[in-house]
Amino acid sequence: MMRLPIRVRLTAWYLAVLCVCLAILGGVILVAARASVARIIDSDLSARLTATRIFMEQHISSEPPAELQDEFQEYSASQPGGALLQIKEESGEWIFQSLSMQKCAIELAPSSAAESSRFSSTVRGERSFRIITGKVAVRARNYAVQIATDTTNFTLVLQRLKWLLLISTPLAIGLALAGGYWLSSRALVPVRRVTETARSIGGDELSRRLDIPQTGDELQFLAQTLNDMLARIENSFKRMTQFTADASHELRTPVAIMRTTAEIALRQKRDEETYRKALQEVLEEAERTSSLIDDLLTLARADSAAQQLELSPTNIAEGIEMAFSRIKFLAAEKTVAVSLQVIQREVWIEGNHEALLRLFLVLFDNAVKYTPAGGKVSAVFDVVKGRSVFRIQDSGIGIAPEDLPCIFERFYRADKTRTRKQGGSGLGLAIAKWIADAHKAEIRVESTLGKGSVFTVEFLESRIELAQQDDALSVSLEK
Ligand code: ADP
Repeated sequence: MMRLPIRVRLTAWYLAVLCVCLAILGGVILVAARASVARIIDSDLSARLTATRIFMEQHISSEPPAELQDEFQEYSASQPGGALLQIKEESGEWIFQSLSMQKCAIELAPSSAAESSRFSSTVRGERSFRIITGKVAVRARNYAVQIATDTTNFTLVLQRLKWLLLISTPLAIGLALAGGYWLSSRALVPVRRVTETARSIGGDELSRRLDIPQTGDELQFLAQTLNDMLARIENSFKRMTQFTADASHELRTPVAIMRTTAEIALRQKRDEETYRKALQEVLEEAERTSSLIDDLLTLARADSAAQQLELSPTNIAEGIEMAFSRIKFLAAEKTVAVSLQVIQREVWIEGNHEALLRLFLVLFDNAVKYTPAGGKVSAVFDVVKGRSVFRIQDSGIGIAPEDLPCIFERFYRADKTRTRKQGGSGLGLAIAKWIADAHKAEIRVESTLGKGSVFTVEFLESRIELAQQDDALSVSLEK
């Protein structure tokens, strides 16, 4: 089903509500005006009936019938609204009937014994009347009295009011329709502007932003939100482009080395030893390249969130010890003294053993790599203030303060002059950070240039299991 534009829907809703309101208002005005006019007329008629009753009590017994007619004539003419009065005795004999009443020929039926007066309405030709019929008892005789008032003008006024409402309501609705449509179109202009700008932003112009209308309303909030979203998209787009560029750059070098080494070796006939050396060099480069590709893959999967680490209860100390045993030989080769102290052995976490091993390997590897021969690397794993903490300290080259905030970035190397053989690809700490995040752990570094560095991994959620005779008592550490 085709959806109508929002301004049309807004106007339609507004119109529907307005129609209902106007219909209710018009109805209420008409009914209230009619009721109020009727109340005024009826109370006037009641007052006139009371006055007539008093007049009759005073005159009927004292005046002879001939004069009584004149008295009634005079009285009826003096009444407001004219001489619409007729009086009949219970026996049916007319006491008085004014001329205008005769003309109207309104039937005078005596009211029942129970009621003292009753109201009725009647129409004679083009004129309408409101009538009160009452019972008056004078000297043990009952009379039926009828007083009428001409309501033609009131009816006319009410008719006019009705027509006025019937004509003016559609007019008001028409005006409101035009006004409502104009207003909603006007109110939606900034939305259209934001939409047009958003539509015009292409993939190569992610640095462009929407103009934010300073209206302090939902529109401003929407534009700001869209701008924030654009900034996030731009950021990740930049990171992706940078990552691809850095990755290609990193891969180009070893491939070039392998190619040149092979080309030189093949250029002329050489002895076996030279070929062996060349092949050895190619192998080393190939190994480095394949580990670089592994790292790149890990980070690419981490970015796409496709690689969700499978978590299961894992012993942290076990991972640390395993990494330590692997690094020992490398350290010995480099004559760097390494030591590990695991104070708390049974600390468990919902984690991934392989990933944790990699995290500790990166830290041990870096510590040994960036510590000159004769230096010292010492690592401790313990529970400090309810949290399990791994801390590795080296007496190596240290990191300059300006590099410290960047070392967890991809491809960042603090010392740019270091050769690829000495340093690494600059991906180790980025991977370590990702693994730490996935294990709700915090990774920090403190370092002094020329003196050494300390890397700390603090696990925010872990539990320690203490062996108590046969039962293992599990104590949850702070979350
Ligand atoms: P790399 O493969 O180059 O070691 P990393 O991501 O592991 O990459 O580390 C990034 C940079 O941080 C390194 O190039 C190095 O300059 C610096 N760094 C890391 N660990 C240490 C350390 N223990 N001592 C001194 N510098 C370090």
